[in-house]
Amino acid sequence: MDIVTGTIGWIEVICGPMFSGKSEELIRRLRRAGIARKRVQVFKPEIDARYSADHIVSHGDLRMKSEVVKDASGILDRMDWRTEVVGVDEANFMGEGLIDVAARLADSGKQVIIAGLDTDFMGRPFPPIPDLLALAESITKMLAICMQCGNPAKHTQRIAGSEDLIVVGAAGLYEARCRRCFEPGIPKQEVMEFVRTRREAKT
Ligand code: ADP
Ligand code: ZN
Repeated sequence: MDIVTGTIGWIEVICGPMFSGKSEELIRRLRRAGIARKRVQVFKPEIDARYSADHIVSHGDLRMKSEVVKDASGILDRMDWRTEVVGVDEANFMGEGLIDVAARLADSGKQVIIAGLDTDFMGRPFPPIPDLLALAESITKMLAICMQCGNPAKHTQRIAGSEDLIVVGAAGLYEARCRRCFEPGIPKQEVMEFVRTRREAKT
């Protein structure tokens, strides 16, 4: 839902698993703001330089120019205070500081649109998104398609890699899964495969 009225600030959050269309939806809203001749600034965290250093990029290859910041405090450092609409992609990598930064920007009259993963690869709430959901005026929860069964998917399944919380999106590392098909962590079969290939690589 787009909020259509007013000159006061607010926070919109777009959440859901990987591949659910969060970046597409963020880009759609930011483009509309551009059409309305609003001043727009877009930020993404440094950690997500995988596809492009200076654009946010969707899995369907929609692009929009963005500024890269180390964490949420970088947004304030780079803020042009004439900006009316602030977009943030991959907000789950921005750190807890984003909660205060988003509130401050909204309090100062800006429309803040935040996209990020609401759960991690274990299915746990992924900070700072849960707090942002509580503070937001508008919440959109996106669903992907489960790669196992085709049902609506709310989970991000890690299908290879390590147990670290953050392993940024090399292709083939993640897929969307529904509640029934989701296996927290790394599926057993894949762990075996991963360990085996690592052993082979060492010898
Ligand atoms: P997110 O930002 O949530 O990761 P994106 O906006 O980058 O999502 O990508 C969404 C696009 O990804 C879809 O429009 C579709 O073209 C593609 N896609 C690939 N795999 C899936 C999937 N399992 N479910 C839905 N869309 C998918
Ligand atoms: Zn499924």
